[in-house]
Amino acid sequence: MNCPFCGAEMEQGALQSLYRIHWMEKPAFTGLSLNFKLSDTLGRTDRPGQAPYLSAFRCPSCRKIITDY
Ligand SMILES: [Zn+2]
Repeated sequence: MNCPFCGAEMEQGALQSLYRIHWMEKPAFTGLSLNFKLSDTLGRTDRPGQAPYLSAFRCPSCRKIITDY
């Protein structure tokens, strides 16, 4: 896949977190779990105990990441 911003070849990989991945309107202070809505949890796991991830492409040139969720 080529980057839609600069045209460079993108690297395929995964965006992964040890915990949950949330969509936030703005960054929350770490540790305040009340700020996280379960409906905004992103990411998938392939088996129990695996850290959640999103399949993604990244562009090292312009530092953009494109993912499906
Ligand atoms: Zn790019």
